[in-house]
Amino acid sequence: MKERIASPAKTIEILQKTGFRFAKKYGQNFLIDLHVLDKILKAAEIGPDSVCVEIGPGIGGLTQVLAENAAHVIAVEIDGRLIPILQENLADYPNIRLIQADFLKLDLKKTLEEDNVTVPIHVIANLPYYITTPIIMDLFESGIPLANMTVMVQEEVAQRMQAGPGTKDYGALSLAVQYYAEAEIVAYVPQNCFMPRPGVRSAVIRLRAYPEKPVQAKNEKFMFAVIRAAFGQRRKQLINSLSGAEGLNIPKEKAQEALQKMDLSPQIRGEALTLKQFADLADLLYTEQQHDA
Ligand code: SAM
Repeated sequence: MKERIASPAKTIEILQKTGFRFAKKYGQNFLIDLHVLDKILKAAEIGPDSVCVEIGPGIGGLTQVLAENAAHVIAVEIDGRLIPILQENLADYPNIRLIQADFLKLDLKKTLEEDNVTVPIHVIANLPYYITTPIIMDLFESGIPLANMTVMVQEEVAQRMQAGPGTKDYGALSLAVQYYAEAEIVAYVPQNCFMPRPGVRSAVIRLRAYPEKPVQAKNEKFMFAVIRAAFGQRRKQLINSLSGAEGLNIPKEKAQEALQKMDLSPQIRGEALTLKQFADLADLLYTEQQHDA
């Protein structure tokens, strides 16, 4: 086994040797805990034929173990100063393609075609928190075949992604994620596992993509508009959140009728409904609107 880039001693050595200065705007907190690294690797369910896409490789701590366990790794790093460092650190791994780009602007479909990737990809990311959720949702919506995504996020965000009905963390993000994937927190990661230490606690969550969506809504966009409205004002009863939501055009009596048809209490709040119930509710309301149009 090669020396681990992510060990605290090696990381410090690389930083000193290269004189690298962390850029706050890129959320550069490098993982220096080999146990956490191992947990990420296990969670990603990588085999010798797997293709990994790593977003934000930093100095290559995770990239190294991915390359040792997968067939091919595409690593996308925004910070040009890290490219020569990565090239040197990962020189022994010919199965890594290093790309300097802002992942948000990269044409991933094209990149995968260029590399003749035909299997569902494993996405691994330890990213600045503010771009993680948009990246996850964009990837789900892109239609690119995904095996799973293993991502380090702020602890509260991981809890929201994993939460089920009736819990305080349950909301639009839980439903958006769980529409595409089975979500499971695989590790809680304290600040001292990073260099430099971030201001918040983190967690690693694995999102195993469903081969088929767990619910089939007549109109996906409309269903998500209903979900957003339902959680827009958490403390409100669902009927009032829906009828008060701008752009949805749901009269109070139609919302009432729909809940009645579903045998749900008129006092119910959005946080009590499952994804399936939201899909059914959205279908009833959508059919009604089409009928009236
Ligand atoms: N993967 C490394 C690790 O675990 O130690 C580094 C993680 S560090 C939290 C985040 C990395 O993502 C940094 O290397 C940063 O430069 C890179 N990054 C930030 N924004 C990015 C973007 N939009 N596209 C690609 N890389 C990005």
